[in-house]
Amino acid sequence: MTRTVYLNGDYLPETEAKISIFDRGFLMADGVYEVTSVLDGKLIDFGGHCVRLARSLSELEMQNPHSDAEWLAIHRELVAKNAITDGMVYLQVTRGNPGDRDFAYPSEDVTPTVVLFTQNKPGLADNPVAKVGFKVISIPDIRWGRRDIKTVQLLYPSMGKMAAKKAGVDDSWFVEEGVVTEGTSNNAYIVKGNKIITRALSSDILHGITRAAVLRFAVEAQMEVEERAFSIAEAQAADEAFITSASAFVMPVVEIDGASVGTGKPGHIVARLREIYLDEMRKAAV
Ligand code: PLP
Repeated sequence: MTRTVYLNGDYLPETEAKISIFDRGFLMADGVYEVTSVLDGKLIDFGGHCVRLARSLSELEMQNPHSDAEWLAIHRELVAKNAITDGMVYLQVTRGNPGDRDFAYPSEDVTPTVVLFTQNKPGLADNPVAKVGFKVISIPDIRWGRRDIKTVQLLYPSMGKMAAKKAGVDDSWFVEEGVVTEGTSNNAYIVKGNKIITRALSSDILHGITRAAVLRFAVEAQMEVEERAFSIAEAQAADEAFITSASAFVMPVVEIDGASVGTGKPGHIVARLREIYLDEMRKAAV
């Protein structure tokens, strides 16, 4: 089925949405993005995505082309036009088309390019993989130093996904200076007893919207939270491990570099966090 997508104010069939070859998103990866999940036709944690989008744009000195209310209206319109019950809305803002290639940013009168499209994922929250868990390998983190900005420079994360695929596992965890930063497109955690351990926020990792919510729910559920780095060896010896992202929610990790974590099966703390997260987020969806 041909999707209806959004491009700079218009809702168009995907085959008719065209962008200039001079767009800075295309030539320079000069753009930022957000991915918001849709469950039961409603947007999950929409406010969190708006806050992070505004921050990413501001860090790159780009104008925010829409108010939060306008972003919400566009998201809702696309969900309705594409009859999405479960899936995702992808949003990208680039610095636009200055009409030529130049390293310097163009003047402010070049308007940003705004693209949104939906991805239909029936049963997104019932992914059977959540019952068996992810297997991951570790690879060096050689990304740039501003991983807190959600830019479209995703080549190294793509290479990480391919390395995982070639190794017959689900994802890669990035390691820098002997400790885990995050997954290719998710934040990484380990569990020891009643304690959730995950790297503290800095420019070394993306500030996951799901991470913020999950840590809040963990504290509310009387779990302990410790924000610090951990090594692969510590993760392999942990009771449980997991990742979070806006589209995978809370996903158990059962194997790291060939070593089973805990029993080698998804554990009860991660299962509980996934359940709480999905319950609370469905309630608050807009
Ligand atoms: N870390 C990286 C590198 C990511 O790309 C993502 C999501 O795309 C995340 C973490 C998780 O962020 P969120 O929970 O906001 O989806």
